[in-house]
Amino acid sequence: MSASPCSHLASIQILEGPDEVDGCEACLAEGTQWVHLRMCMTCGEVGCCDDSPQQHARKHAVSAEHPVVRSVEQRESWSYCFVDEVVFRVAGVEPIAQAAQPHSFNHDELGTRIEMWVGDEPVGWLQYTPVGDAIEITRTEVHDGFQGMGYDGELVLEAIDIFAAKEKPLIPSDEFARAFITYRPELHGSVAPSMRGRMLGEERD
Ligand SMILES: [Zn+2]
Ligand SMILES: [Zn+2]
Ligand SMILES: [Zn+2]
Repeated sequence: MSASPCSHLASIQILEGPDEVDGCEACLAEGTQWVHLRMCMTCGEVGCCDDSPQQHARKHAVSAEHPVVRSVEQRESWSYCFVDEVVFRVAGVEPIAQAAQPHSFNHDELGTRIEMWVGDEPVGWLQYTPVGDAIEITRTEVHDGFQGMGYDGELVLEAIDIFAAKEKPLIPSDEFARAFITYRPELHGSVAPSMRGRMLGEERD
């Protein structure tokens, strides 16, 4: 193995996410809102992400000196160290099967949009255009109040699943690259290497 970008791997005691998550434990106690959930990999406490007003995961990491969390969001398996400020993967960590807050997607087959809902709230949409047999993602937009929360990446991931099932290739666009590279670097592994190469400009026509 190569050197880890995080020097706190010895603090990790728990790999698996909880079977059920009600939400951020501190937010539930305080009556505050959260956005995404993280689990402390030392003691298992579930807290809210840095996009959440209270940033309970970060507060716990500092106060308890438990630096490493993992995502407990649907399909995610990445870890983050609050001290080294790095996203990385820990061997043996499995993706979460179910989202703490149910995510749903509304795909209008005749239209050109995939909408995303978290719980009963619409958070954004992705627009696409057929180009021959392929699909070009032309735009993703996240509603006000949900900016920068990574939902662009989740919409793109859903589009990959939908069109992969239909055996329609996706044409990486600037918007696609923006969603993956800017907001969700941890999702790079979800993209086929050839597509990733084009997105990152490693292959030219
Ligand atoms: Zn670290
Ligand atoms: Zn919280
Ligand atoms: Zn902890």
